[in-house]
Amino acid sequence: MASTARVVVTGAGGFIGGHLVSAFRGQGYKNIRAVDVKPLDEWYQRFDDVENLKLDLNEKENCETAAKGMDEIYNLAANMGGMGFIEANKALCMLSVLINTHMLQAAQKHGAKRFFYSSSACVYNGDKQKTFEAPSLKEEDAYPAMAEDGYGWEKLFSERMCRHFREDFGLYTRVARFHNVYGPWGTWFGGREKAPAAICRKVIEAKLSGTNEIEIWGSGDQTRSFMYSDDCIKGIQMIMDSNILEPINLGSAEAVTINQLVDIVESIAGVKLKRRYDLSAPKGVNGRNSDNTLIQKYLRWEPDTTLRAGLEKTYAWIYDQYQARERGDAGVVRESSAVSAR
Ligand code: NAD
Repeated sequence: MASTARVVVTGAGGFIGGHLVSAFRGQGYKNIRAVDVKPLDEWYQRFDDVENLKLDLNEKENCETAAKGMDEIYNLAANMGGMGFIEANKALCMLSVLINTHMLQAAQKHGAKRFFYSSSACVYNGDKQKTFEAPSLKEEDAYPAMAEDGYGWEKLFSERMCRHFREDFGLYTRVARFHNVYGPWGTWFGGREKAPAAICRKVIEAKLSGTNEIEIWGSGDQTRSFMYSDDCIKGIQMIMDSNILEPINLGSAEAVTINQLVDIVESIAGVKLKRRYDLSAPKGVNGRNSDNTLIQKYLRWEPDTTLRAGLEKTYAWIYDQYQARERGDAGVVRESSAVSAR
């Protein structure tokens, strides 16, 4: 689509949504609508040359306000967080079905040309993720369905709804299953942060406070892959432009154990910490990696930022945020990038 398209990003006050709005601006899009339930001053990135709307998308009429007059909808709004959040908030995670249902209906009613939905690797069958050897999950491994309780079931249902809106109502829908996205401008404290940001913060804390100790959730043997935010944004746009009708993996295939993730962050920080393992903490499945056969086949591309390179940028950003917070400069924690007109 040309940059004359009118695009709306929901969840734009959050991590990935903020990056997506930033990318559209960079590509010269002039008609961008950004929507989030959070007060505007809490958005991670906010741009004053964009139409910013604070709307609760659980409400049907707000979804209509968001969709009206727009060509393309990127539906990223969801109640979500790392394992600590989703294991303790299953009902809240499932209520995102209201956002997804109402946004699909609004897209159809207002004649949106294209609809993107951000699903998750949490849709995959738990039985296929019992080993620590990072099983590479193929798209077909979501069935028979045994998704992550709460959050994963809602994602699986909503991606299925995208399929049926496409088949029955002719709505152009595209669905990507994100695998653990990380990068600057993400949640790094407060309970919703995911492993890469949490580990960066803990390493910074240990280094600056001199405790030289880190707590790790689980045994540290769990395996995951982590996708850098730039790759996620590129993948979203390529998938939206593609003919890929079924949900597809969007993730890195560079699997590491949580212990290896800590090794990398320690080496970036120039420290070696004593590790304490909290075996009772939420830790999710034992092993998970992204099988990228399909995305390679369709797009001849897959997320390719190395974990080391992405973590260097993420660590540097969290380090700055951490120090700003220590100085009592609370505004900096959520302040947007230099390109923001704020
Ligand atoms: P995020 O929490 O930073 O952003 C989500 C945003 O949605 C938040 O700003 C939140 O305020 C907003 N939101 C929640 N409820 C809303 C409502 N009722 N109305 C309007 N806005 C509402 O999360 P993120 O990491 O940017 O995730 C974006 C999308 O990608 C989500 O759908 C998430 O499930 C999916 N996803 C993310 C990851 C990841 O690793 N970050 C992995 C898999 C899937």
